[in-house]
Amino acid sequence: MTAYSLGPLLYEGKAKRVYATDQPDLVAVEFKDDATAFNAEKRACLAGKGERNCRISALVFEWLEGRGVSTHYLGVEGDRWMLVRPVKVVPIEVVVRNVAAGSLCRQLPIAPGTPLDPPLLDLYYKHDALGDPLLTEARLERLQLVSSGQLQAISELAMAVNRGLRELFGSVDLELVDFKIELGFAADGRLLLADEISPDTCRLWDRRISDQSDRILDKDRFRQDLGGVVEAYGEVLKRVQGVCAQPRVYR
Ligand code: 5GP
Repeated sequence: MTAYSLGPLLYEGKAKRVYATDQPDLVAVEFKDDATAFNAEKRACLAGKGERNCRISALVFEWLEGRGVSTHYLGVEGDRWMLVRPVKVVPIEVVVRNVAAGSLCRQLPIAPGTPLDPPLLDLYYKHDALGDPLLTEARLERLQLVSSGQLQAISELAMAVNRGLRELFGSVDLELVDFKIELGFAADGRLLLADEISPDTCRLWDRRISDQSDRILDKDRFRQDLGGVVEAYGEVLKRVQGVCAQPRVYR
């Protein structure tokens, strides 16, 4: 791996900043401590969140790569920087649900905690101003966001990610309730898992605890004002580190 220098800010999201580098095939992502929920109506700064999410995400990407999932991940630098391949992000949020929770239970008569087998795949249009609406097959076709072949590849990748994540989190007594991923096309046309995988983007319940509030180790602690958000993310990191090596350092 070669040294690089940071270029201009390309994009600032709710939880990350993305910078160009002096290398066309390398982008640097800075994980922020900012937390937002409910389409950014609720905001806070949680010291240490960025660092934990960067580490968890790096270890998860490495775990998934070891199981045949192609990702944008290249390595970490320092506590909160991740180096990734640039991708053209698909404007679809892909959600996989193993257990009913969150918006599913608000929109359908399904009780929270109901197991979903086979897992449910929900696609949302990534569009903040419209509040990320649910997509149907017909809507996808109308918007022409992806071809049917690409849609098939996206679904297969999402299910492969689900299998890998359930194996990882399950091995450390964390129940993977649901998660959201983003995907992108690399310059060579390959579909890659992008963005991050962390307690900001997954629901994780501690199987060692039965109390419904106490067992939440993800962003629902922030959404529901349960407190202990950074501590919960730290617990997830500690458990994941127990089965993964240190993340590879980019330089
Ligand atoms: P829900 O549909 O219940 O809002 O979310 C399902 C899963 O996807 C949860 O794990 C949630 O954290 C994640 N998710 C859905 N949309 C977003 C989003 O816009 N940002 C983040 N960080 N996670 C999301």
